Amino acid sequence: MPYPVVHVLFFVLCISAVAVYAAARSLFRGELSLKGSMHLLFLLFVGSVCSLFPDIMIIYNLLVNGTIEHCWAGPIPTHSLLFSLPAVLFGIVAGYAKYREPGRAIYLGLFAEAAFASHLLLDDISEGGCEYLYPLYEKKISVFSMMDVSFRGTGLFHYLMISFVSVFFICSVIMMVLFVLNKYGFELRYKPEK
Ligand SMILES: [Zn+2]
Repeated sequence: MPYPVVHVLFFVLCISAVAVYAAARSLFRGELSLKGSMHLLFLLFVGSVCSLFPDIMIIYNLLVNGTIEHCWAGPIPTHSLLFSLPAVLFGIVAGYAKYREPGRAIYLGLFAEAAFASHLLLDDISEGGCEYLYPLYEKKISVFSMMDVSFRGTGLFHYLMISFVSVFFICSVIMMVLFVLNKYGFELRYKPEK
């Protein structure tokens, strides 16, 4: 399993690259205020915590059982989208505590979901799959291995569907982050050339 710092760096530098880019740009232009920095740090803090959330049971197991088991919370696999619900709730509560606006709190919940999903994607790359769809489908699925399917064996339609679904899942995680960051002032837009 990747170390916690790798999960945080993957989320901050790869999935939230637009926030890092926009902040660095504003910093070099002298436009990044203290308020803006705190705003960015708060977002990245919530995202970082939620990017570690799937491994949270390691704390309990280390303290109580002396093991590093981290993949199960009772009968529920922690590396599933079902287990992202507490992370989303954490994002919503943290967002509401800071901004006192239900809309902004919901956006932060969405950001928390994307951070959680980024952990699953990284574990998927390194370990070959996660129980994404538990309890609908209880076995591990690898979004990345799915892309390697051959259309000779499965048929063209099945091949296209699997390829589309796996790419769309990764795309939707990145789009969620872009959407939330846009709502929080990190803008990236097309400017037509003159
Ligand atoms: Zn993990």
